[in-house]
Amino acid sequence: MGSGPLGDHRFTGYRRRLIEEVRGRGIDDLEILQLFDQVPRHLFMPEGVWNRAYEDAPIPIGYHQTASQPSLQALFLSILKPRETERVLEIGTGSGFLTALLAGMAERVYSVERIRELSARARKALDDLGIMNVALLVGDGTIGWRKYAPYDVIVVSAASPSIPKAYVDQLADPGRMLIPIGSKDAQDLILVEKVGFAVTQQPVKAGCTFVPLLGRFAWKEEVPGGGE
Ligand code: SAH
Repeated sequence: MGSGPLGDHRFTGYRRRLIEEVRGRGIDDLEILQLFDQVPRHLFMPEGVWNRAYEDAPIPIGYHQTASQPSLQALFLSILKPRETERVLEIGTGSGFLTALLAGMAERVYSVERIRELSARARKALDDLGIMNVALLVGDGTIGWRKYAPYDVIVVSAASPSIPKAYVDQLADPGRMLIPIGSKDAQDLILVEKVGFAVTQQPVKAGCTFVPLLGRFAWKEEVPGGGE
């Protein structure tokens, strides 16, 4: 992963502090902590919030959306641990920061976002960093992305009232998925595992608050276009 001219040293201290915070929350996986060190999070944020890019907090990224809290993203990675031979489906590209981290671990990441401008900004940040193993799609991610299924790992970064059927269908066997399930105000993070045709679910973290998954098979809202 190249850092190029964008490896901005002004942020190195903040980045180190964030890594300490993530570690303080119990994530001690070196591969994950190293990724936090290598991927400059501010480049995935609008310039107006660069000064907050290394806080361990959700950050507004425009269009009524937020980038998820870094320690929560680290938790996602530590539970799912995508391997370098595996393919990942991400729903809710948002800033693209988690996309970049996933791309550092997996063979290839397929990421769907319903807001075109966010997808475009994520594309630019990924391109600027020379991260090549990511395919982005603009559309309704509640139908997954059938074209490249099945996926070894599925990561859903927006909250849903239930598990959209397409995700279970598009999950490889064996495969694993994390998705926040609940009301619009509070959700439990659910780990779904498929092994030998059996699908199991277990809560791994209670009381999360993600932005809603809006689309045909979650909370309804007219969305432009659709997945393939
Ligand atoms: N991991 C991202 C999370 C962004 S918030 C980050 O840290 O930046 C969740 C994202 O899901 C938002 O950008 C929102 O627009 C997107 N989203 C909501 N419903 C969606 C849908 N049906 N399909 C694709 N993306 C969706």
